[in-house]
Amino acid sequence: MTFKVNSPTVTYTDATIESRVVYESTDLTFDPKTGAVLEVTPTATNFVFRTERKVPRLGMMLVGWGGNNGSTVTGALLANKHNVSWNTKEGTRNPDYWGSLTQASTVRLGSGPNGDIFVPFNHLLPMVNPNDIIVDGWDISSANLGDSMKRAQVFDYDLQRQLYPMMVNMRPRPSIYFPDFIAANQADRADNVLTGSKQEQMEQIRRDIRDFKARENLDKVIVLWTANTERFADIIPGMNDTAENILNAISQGHSEISPSTLFAVASVLEGCTYINGSPQNTFVPGVVDLANQRRVYIAGDDFKSGQTKMKSVLVDFLVGAGIKPTSIVSYNHLGNNDGKNLSAPQQFRSKEISKSNVVDDMVASNNILYKKDEHPDHVVVIKYVPYVADSKRAMDEYTSEIFMGGKNTIVMHNTCEDSLLASPLIFDLVILAEICERITFKTEDMAEFDRFNSVLSILSFMLKAPLVPNGTPVVNALFRQRACIENIFRACVGLKPENHMMIEHKRP
Ligand code: NAD
Repeated sequence: MTFKVNSPTVTYTDATIESRVVYESTDLTFDPKTGAVLEVTPTATNFVFRTERKVPRLGMMLVGWGGNNGSTVTGALLANKHNVSWNTKEGTRNPDYWGSLTQASTVRLGSGPNGDIFVPFNHLLPMVNPNDIIVDGWDISSANLGDSMKRAQVFDYDLQRQLYPMMVNMRPRPSIYFPDFIAANQADRADNVLTGSKQEQMEQIRRDIRDFKARENLDKVIVLWTANTERFADIIPGMNDTAENILNAISQGHSEISPSTLFAVASVLEGCTYINGSPQNTFVPGVVDLANQRRVYIAGDDFKSGQTKMKSVLVDFLVGAGIKPTSIVSYNHLGNNDGKNLSAPQQFRSKEISKSNVVDDMVASNNILYKKDEHPDHVVVIKYVPYVADSKRAMDEYTSEIFMGGKNTIVMHNTCEDSLLASPLIFDLVILAEICERITFKTEDMAEFDRFNSVLSILSFMLKAPLVPNGTPVVNALFRQRACIENIFRACVGLKPENHMMIEHKRP
């Protein structure tokens, strides 16, 4: 249930919520010689935001459905939907969506006589309830979802026992497997694979999407990659650099077209939002171009669940407090199939790249602490240790220079429960992408209402290496990312951005 805003700038109809918003920003002028800021001019732009109120019947297709994340998402959804409680040695547990921004966090509406009033985040706008999402997907492993869930070793035994009968008949669709893109150690689970040319395999994925949509009577489908991390694909001029070239390259079966890129292209051609939860460069320029041409959303890359989430909070705090991190060293060890795949050098490299740029925006924001192009030393190590299974360990050491030549070292040990951190992000990514499909806006210089840029950077909060529209700033700082989503949604219902001034409480 959402609340109603009582304002002359907001109009509710049965179909839409329309809100007139003055968006305030600043224009800067620069000294052409030194690049220094000469003048700062506040600007105001009139926007109308329009949000469709009808919550659709939504299907989510997971690539890598039988993996730890895929089976955990599916099991958690079923447990919540059917209210499955389970016994543990500490007592009975009930299902929840903790770790999900949309389901388990709140936003502040204002203050009442007894202090601040908060509402659930998902009361801001009419959003899909995760319990109502219909799940389907693909995996190169033929295991049914019941067995995948057992294999993942994520849920307590008593929960697995109750979920198994609900999941045993769910079978992943055969998927695209090019051994060159994931680690060789994955070959023994690849028993559910498509054959034929690249073009034919992509056409099959398109048919799968259409089949799922029709069979389940869905209004829309969102496709999300939570399969193994692939190696980076080479960017080759004339091959994957434009929409036209990449479609040609697929029809010619070019060897540098990865499975994930085929999924992204299939999804975009079907008009379905495509989200990449792994670090590889699925979104080569040709895919971005295609998404822009077709006005379909794409978002990525790589879920921001554990160590990086912490990093994008801690470094923001340090730099924001005027402290200079000079060395950040991150060790990980994990024993799940993701860790096994990442033990191969090329796949590790994808993860290393994705993890490496996460402090750049915070460092670049403070030219008192850092000279131009100066960066802290930043090293990431990942090791595969089967015994710890899905319970990933992340150890970080942050060394900073502080006041008057002092040094501060923070050491952190983070036991992550990998899939229990990533799965709520999958729900958020899909639910937020879906509501973004129902938001359009118009400024005075636009003839028609339009959607956001196809590169849906609003979802950055959940992503380690956010993909942004060409030439626009990347924000990694977690609370800036959260404020972005919250404030855009507030604008959609005619509420001002949360500015934390609270001057009403600071009067004499
Ligand atoms: P997983 O290995 O348990 O699951 C991946 C699944 O993908 C497997 O079942 C595998 O058989 C399948 N697969 C591989 N290639 C495929 C293809 N071409 N098509 C269809 N299926 C394919 O891994 P996971 O722990 O579930 O993580 C999934 C992905 O999410 C990994 O790439 C990981 O790096 C990324 N990720 C996870 C986290 C997290 O769990 N906290 C955080 C960030 C990113």
